[in-house]
Amino acid sequence: MEISDLPKTLAEPFERIERKEIAVIGGGLIGLSTAYAAAVRGQGRVKVSIYEAAEVGHPDGASSDVSRVFRHLNGPDPTLTTWAKEAWTMWDSLGQLGGSAILHPIGVLFLVQQGDGTNSKGRHVRPYESAGAWLDDSVRVLDEQKVPYRRLSAKNLEQLYPQFHSPSIEEAVLDLGAGFLEASKALSVLLDLCLRAGVEYHPNTRVARVEPTVGGCLLHLEGNREVRADAVVVAANGWMGDLLPLPPGTLTLAEQPLVYLTPPEKASDLTPGRMPVFISLNTDCYGFPVHDGTLKIADDNPYRPISHPDERREPEEGYVNGVVETVSRFIPALKGAVVDRTHVCFYDRSKDERFILDAWDEDARIVYGCGMSGRAFKFGPVIGERLARFAVSGQRPPDLAEFRIR
Ligand SMILES: Cc1cc2nc3c(=O)[nH]c(=O)nc-3n(C[C@H](O)[C@H](O)[C@H](O)COP(=O)(O)OP(=O)(O)OC[C@H]3O[C@@H](n4cnc5c(N)ncnc54)[C@H](O)[C@@H]3O)c2cc1C
Repeated sequence: MEISDLPKTLAEPFERIERKEIAVIGGGLIGLSTAYAAAVRGQGRVKVSIYEAAEVGHPDGASSDVSRVFRHLNGPDPTLTTWAKEAWTMWDSLGQLGGSAILHPIGVLFLVQQGDGTNSKGRHVRPYESAGAWLDDSVRVLDEQKVPYRRLSAKNLEQLYPQFHSPSIEEAVLDLGAGFLEASKALSVLLDLCLRAGVEYHPNTRVARVEPTVGGCLLHLEGNREVRADAVVVAANGWMGDLLPLPPGTLTLAEQPLVYLTPPEKASDLTPGRMPVFISLNTDCYGFPVHDGTLKIADDNPYRPISHPDERREPEEGYVNGVVETVSRFIPALKGAVVDRTHVCFYDRSKDERFILDAWDEDARIVYGCGMSGRAFKFGPVIGERLARFAVSGQRPPDLAEFRIR
């Protein structure tokens, strides 16, 4: 596959290029996607540099992991489903350019439960009355956008996926074209594509401060160095507050532990193809089939609040056991499963859990993306393209209007 075969929003030259030197701060998924879009759509007319405090793929970033959920069903918000459809083709193309698939469309199952200690509405569903009501509105968006899905009664589910078994399960929806993304692979593919597209990569280069100047902006690098750019995109995730002081309360950070289980023996029905990704809407626990030797599960609810990503600590044993116990109540094969390892990541939540994709100054010399609220990986190539277009043109792409800071 050639770059010219990429979807329109990655292959076509920018219509408007007002800024020819773009600096990107942060080499996570959002920064890499932004840099790649700026370089390929800039078609040699835009010089792009990435400044990363550590190295692309370092374990403390939110983008490094074996997997991330990709789904079209994102609640009642039509923009997110539109973006998921656009992202699907981008992920597919990026996988082809990188030589092997990043997106594995094995389906994502949304479970509605009642009783058995699973009565809470769950974070996904708020402020809806019930998980079922939230699903009704969500599938309406899928219908409108012609996204294929199946609505399953408890009995249908048992026939299709007997791994999910509990009297608490009332119904489920299977998002058919959804699945999981190989997260760390995505980062290495994107870095490689960035380098091939001429992006300058500066690892181990922390930006201490950034400020708009007349007709550009200035990056103060640690070690008393300064670099100038026509515009900068800040994609520093939970480290955002080190660079740009957002109003207090704009972002809240919390630890999000991930639990990797050793697959139980005779677990052939816990493998991709036999089992979809799952999200329990009432408990907010979710997980993936066995991939890379382990089966990953997590609780989407905030664990311990933190004020900076560097404050993360190992999770309590009781918490980890609780996540395993909750999931094994509806996937009985996981009862007593052995924990292989845990990893503590973090979410940077905005007040309403919508992404914040905005400009810091009136001239949009400093464009930024944060408040990803644990949802942004799937949309990474779309968010990156929008931030790149914003920075290069100085004009806000129309569909970013609803993601301004509020
Ligand atoms: C546990 C967990 C599960 C998730 N699950 C999903 C999911 O299933 N589906 C989904 O769509 N999304 C999911 N997400 C969300 C998604 O993974 C993140 O929103 C996304 O990866 C964030 O990418 P990023 O580039 O903004 O941040 P990061 O990957 O954290 O990158 C930010 C980078 O900026 C660098 N940096 C910071 N400060 C500076 C500085 N001053 N100078 C230079 N560099 C700097 C950091 O070193 C870091 O590498 C999940 C997130 C977590 C934590």
